[in-house]
Amino acid sequence: MDSSQFRAAAKEAIDEIATYYETLPSRPVLSTVTPGYLRPLLPESPPEEGEPWEKIQADISRVIMPGLTHWNSPKFMAFFPCNSSFPAMLGEMYSGAFNAAAFNWICSPAITELETVMMDWVAQLLALPKEFLSHGEGGGIIQGTASEVTVTALVAARERIIRRKLIDMPEGEEKIDTAADIRGKLVALGSEHAHSSTQKAALVAGTRYRSVPAPKETNYAVTASALRQTIQECRARGHEPFYFTITLGSTGTCAIDDLNGIAALAATEPNLWIHVDAAYAGSALLLPEYQHLCPPLAAFDSFNFNLHKWLLVNFDCSAFFVKRRKDLIDTYSITPSYLRNPHSEAGLVTDYRDWQIPLGRRFRSLKVWFVLRSFGAQGLRTFVRRTVALGVFFADLIKRRPDVFGLVTEPAFGLVTFQIRNLGPLGAGARANRVVPVRDALTNGFEPDADAQYAELVNQKTREVYEAVNAKGEFFLTSTVVGGQYV
Ligand code: PLP
Repeated sequence: MDSSQFRAAAKEAIDEIATYYETLPSRPVLSTVTPGYLRPLLPESPPEEGEPWEKIQADISRVIMPGLTHWNSPKFMAFFPCNSSFPAMLGEMYSGAFNAAAFNWICSPAITELETVMMDWVAQLLALPKEFLSHGEGGGIIQGTASEVTVTALVAARERIIRRKLIDMPEGEEKIDTAADIRGKLVALGSEHAHSSTQKAALVAGTRYRSVPAPKETNYAVTASALRQTIQECRARGHEPFYFTITLGSTGTCAIDDLNGIAALAATEPNLWIHVDAAYAGSALLLPEYQHLCPPLAAFDSFNFNLHKWLLVNFDCSAFFVKRRKDLIDTYSITPSYLRNPHSEAGLVTDYRDWQIPLGRRFRSLKVWFVLRSFGAQGLRTFVRRTVALGVFFADLIKRRPDVFGLVTEPAFGLVTFQIRNLGPLGAGARANRVVPVRDALTNGFEPDADAQYAELVNQKTREVYEAVNAKGEFFLTSTVVGGQYV
């Protein structure tokens, strides 16, 4: 493909993408293909000779489209959203064209410097404490996903506590052995409702993992006293808590751990790296009505949210802010001679490779820049506020039909969890209501475990309805289990 063929092909591709977006609302959100559908549509091996673009492009409809789940459909209500926008797609296009693995500043100064400025813009938009801006000791870096960020923070936390404990020990075999002993005792903590990425990060880092209880009584949030108690229990077993994921918007219910209480606890636990996982809900901090959540964040070591979830920047774009970039650099800076250059040696530039696990990195800040400029802060606030309002609207609909539905948690950041409380058969016209005998038994005290039986029936019915909705493919919902309730 030469540049004139590229011009024509790209224009057609853009046309097709625009039509795809225009027709999204009328498509069923879920694909109806069966596992393994794709292999028979492709030849056994790659082509020996190059093929014309027209033939390749035609296979988008033939091969790819039938197997797509339409994440950007208005009928996609599963997981957390993964929003996109046209300005972001243009950013991806340019990024692909400039194609750099910009690990050091010298690899492409614009890529490093735009990222630094964009992360400062984003931190300001979210009213993050000034400690997370690059002007002082902190700063932000873009990573692919919240899970990668958690591993990056957790490994840095592991190395930081070891450095601190062994600061006075001379380098050598004995220090290496002592560090290994300490590593064996380290335990990472997260809410029982923390995203699985914290447990996975502990696995990668080779440390223990322990969850902190966050029961229904605290609205599924970790309190400072629950965290303190878990820390004490770990110490009683001879283990050393070194890391805690505090969740701002848990995956199941969008619960917020006790930010203020845990901020106070942080002052007494200087070796505990506290990482804020705000993967989805962090975008709401754009709104003044949520910014009361921001001041306690100053007590924590790092903060992360995904612009690719709720902020119209397409996948992947996860913003990771640290209060002391030195904590990352002290862990991740390893500089063989082929990575040396006068700018880095002079200490005048940021080399983001020293803040992260991989070496190479994508030019993600371009799409952030395009989105922030195209929508403006006001446009993004309007968008996020509308999602929050849709959650409240949906919860109101649920509350108006107590004969059919029950709300499990109040709407939070647009997320609503509910159950089906009408236990009759599915389908229009179904009138039988099998809940009555259970309720009667409950009221009359005949059935000692009627409560548990009723809860189990509600769980079963909710699962049945959930599976029926998804089986139709028109809409896509996600289910989970919260405090034993299937929602
Ligand atoms: N943290 C929370 C609270 C999440 O809900 C999720 C995913 O939905 C993640 C982390 C992981 O996100 P990622 O796919 O960016 O790793």
